[in-house]
Amino acid sequence: MIDTVAILLSAIAMTAIVGGRYLVSSGFFAWLTERIRPGHYEKLKPQMSREIRWSLLSAAIYGFPAGIVAWGWQNRGWSQIYEDPNMYPLWYLPVSLFLYLIIHDTWFYWTHRLFHEPSWFKLAHAVHHDSRPPTAWAAMSFHPIEAISGAIVIPALVIAVPIHVGVLGFVLLIMTIMGVTNHMGWEMFPRWLVQGRLGKWLITATHHEKHHELYRGNYGLYFRFWDKVCGTDIGLANDWGSFDGANNGRKRVGS
Ligand SMILES: [Zn+2]
Ligand SMILES: [Zn+2]
Repeated sequence: MIDTVAILLSAIAMTAIVGGRYLVSSGFFAWLTERIRPGHYEKLKPQMSREIRWSLLSAAIYGFPAGIVAWGWQNRGWSQIYEDPNMYPLWYLPVSLFLYLIIHDTWFYWTHRLFHEPSWFKLAHAVHHDSRPPTAWAAMSFHPIEAISGAIVIPALVIAVPIHVGVLGFVLLIMTIMGVTNHMGWEMFPRWLVQGRLGKWLITATHHEKHHELYRGNYGLYFRFWDKVCGTDIGLANDWGSFDGANNGRKRVGS
C-alpha cells in the first residue's frame, strides 16, 4: 500500500516535471520566435491552444512510466543508471549517448512510418499533423497512442542499457531542444551546418518541416540514416531564404 502511494506520487511528480519542462522549453522558443520573427505565429493562435492541450496530456503519459521507473531506480535498483563515472570505461560515456540517440531514432523512424499507414494515421497521428504549420508548442502535440509509443522508449532503455545519470540528462536535453526547435518554423542552426557534410546526416527544422509540409518522407528523429537507407529522405525544405529568416520571416516554407 505504501509502495503504491509512493509510486503514484513519483508518477505525479514526474508528470509535473515533464509538463513544466514542456512549458518552459516551448515557451522559451515561442518567445524567441516572436522576438526574431515577429508575427510568425500570428494566425496560429487557435492551433497553438490545441497544441498546448495535447502536449499537456502527453506530459502525463510521458510522466507516468518515467515516474514508475524513477521510483524503481531509487528503491529497487531497477535501472542501469549509474552515478560513478568510473563504473564503466570513460569512452562509454559518449558511446552510451550515441547508443541512446540511435536506438531512440530507430524506434521513432519505424513507428512513425507505421503511423503514416492510412488507418494508423487517422487513429493516432493526425493530431500531430493538425499543426499546419507546426509551432514551438507542437513539440509534444501527440494523440495518446502516439504519446505512449514515445513515452516508453527512455524508461525501457534505462532498464536495459547502462547510462551515467549526467549523460541521461544530456539525452533528455537533446530530446527536448530538438523536439521543440524542429517544429518552431525556422532554422536556428547555421547554413554551413545544415547544408554541409554534417547536415547530410542530422535532422533539424529544415528537414522535419518538409515532413509536415508534404505528409510523407523524412520520418526520422535525430539522424537521416534510416530515411537514406530506406529511400524516404526527401531532402531539406528548399526555400532556405524564407526559412532562415533572410527576408522578413513572414513567408514560410512552401508558401
Ligand atoms: Zn508524421
Ligand atoms: Zn513533427
